[in-house]
Amino acid sequence: MAKFVVTPSSEEQRAAWTGGTIPEVERVRPGLWSVPVPIPINPLRYVLVYVLECDDGVALVDAGWNTDEAYDALVAGLAVAGYAITDVKAVLVTHIHPDHYGLAGRVREASGAWIGLHPADAELVHERYDEAAIESLVARERALLARCGVPPATLDELAGASMMIRHLVSAAKPDRLIEDGDRLGLPGWDLRALWTPGHSPGHLCFTSPSRKLLFSGDHVLARITPIVAVHPQSGPNPLADYLGALAAVRALDVEEVLPAHEYRFLELAGRVDHVMAHHEERLAEIEGVLAASDGVSCWEAATRLTWSRPWESIPAFMRRAANNETLAHLVWLEARGRARREPGEPDRWVSG
Ligand SMILES: [Zn+2]
Ligand SMILES: [Zn+2]
Repeated sequence: MAKFVVTPSSEEQRAAWTGGTIPEVERVRPGLWSVPVPIPINPLRYVLVYVLECDDGVALVDAGWNTDEAYDALVAGLAVAGYAITDVKAVLVTHIHPDHYGLAGRVREASGAWIGLHPADAELVHERYDEAAIESLVARERALLARCGVPPATLDELAGASMMIRHLVSAAKPDRLIEDGDRLGLPGWDLRALWTPGHSPGHLCFTSPSRKLLFSGDHVLARITPIVAVHPQSGPNPLADYLGALAAVRALDVEEVLPAHEYRFLELAGRVDHVMAHHEERLAEIEGVLAASDGVSCWEAATRLTWSRPWESIPAFMRRAANNETLAHLVWLEARGRARREPGEPDRWVSG
């Protein structure tokens, strides 16, 4: 695939990313700040929280993980911008993942800010972070993995793989549900929400048409592509959702993309085209695996694909993500008649 490399709009931020450090708090433009909030033990290292100055205080896009270190970094970043945590009036959360939503509850406690989330992600809050509900979630994940052909010996390990990070989120309920096309009504901002499901069912981007900005969350990033996977809390065909939502943002008139990770950049359309081509390539690779076999389980298909490192050296929770991502591609192919599922334990996948 031809490599398309975006132009960073902050050289300092890109240099920090590639140098393995945390970037500085930056004024992106008048009235808008970027505050990196560290994520512990994660190769992404930080979430870029955006601080939008309004007449009566500030609004945040995303919040960070629920750790003291993250909270302190957010407070310190706000101070650089000339604000206190008590000035936060709103926390617009792009999606429910702990690196974005985790700290929202604590910010609300300190400031009285309202928290906004898309209804499709709001629905998942209880199940993800409530002790009683988690058991059934893990059981459904286990059943899904079994149908994928995950070896029985590793089923339990994989099914519970993300449970250790639960404490990094407070199970705060949102105060406002933000729907596709909603105008946020922040003073001084013509901010509009765009529902971009795929990476999570309720992922939101925010756009300012007058400033030609896109707050892209995890939907579009400079270098990496977000995980789009089938799991108990995904939609039935998340890759179709994701590709549709990519087309939707591509149509926007945007000069600068403000993502939640890595660094901000120009050339939204070029980046979207590249990500779409990446998925096309992946789909073709999976079709190749199906054509070369007389039926494989999803897990077997995953082990035959190329990953950033050999399958044997991929840790358990990432193998689960790899399996569930493969399933998202298989389901997409099935919906297009390019693959067929023979139901069983496990399901067998054959060419369509
Ligand atoms: Zn995410
Ligand atoms: Zn993220």
